[in-house]
Amino acid sequence: MINLILFGPPGSGKGTQATKLVEKYELLHISTGDLFRYEMGNDTPLGKKAKEYISKGELVPDEVTIGMLVNKVIANPDVKGYIFDGYPRNIDQAEALDKILAEMGTEVSGLISLQVDDEEIVKRILNRGKTSGRSDDNDENIIRNRIEVYKGETRPVFDFYAPRDKAFEVDGIGSIEEIFDRLCARIDQF
Ligand code: ADP
Repeated sequence: MINLILFGPPGSGKGTQATKLVEKYELLHISTGDLFRYEMGNDTPLGKKAKEYISKGELVPDEVTIGMLVNKVIANPDVKGYIFDGYPRNIDQAEALDKILAEMGTEVSGLISLQVDDEEIVKRILNRGKTSGRSDDNDENIIRNRIEVYKGETRPVFDFYAPRDKAFEVDGIGSIEEIFDRLCARIDQF
């Protein structure tokens, strides 16, 4: 199995690349952001809860996020592997992921972090906000808060996998195809 954590700050291109990687490697794409947006779109209790945090650019609490992720993995055991996009976003989430994969007799193959600088991120997200309909994409203060949360809570997940030689960086600046090729070159070494 290939179990890839596609990592990096908001707006670093994880979703775009995940869509292409899924096709090439026949993996199941699990995006916690997409799962939350689905719940919010249907105005479910989980969606309402998530919205309180997402609209401020904060992380949705682990008790909501981890359960949702684990359910999604358990519901899809017969796949060639998973791409985790937007998860794990803190160490507790990483530990929960390791645990559920271990229970399934597998493990994280590697984490790849897309490197994109702050100003490029703000530019990309504001641009995406024009068409995404995402309330968290339109306000520069919310975007900057998401970047701060990334640096404070999420970036340590990289250091969590690094000692096991499972954390890698890939330059996230360039054309979609160039970045895709860089990712594939790394994945092919897993
Ligand atoms: P981004 O483009 O910022 O990476 P996502 O679509 O991955 O956006 O996530 C949007 C929002 O959903 C995040 O800012 C956060 O509030 C919430 N979210 C997504 N994944 C998680 C997670 N693993 N833990 C907590 N909150 C999450």
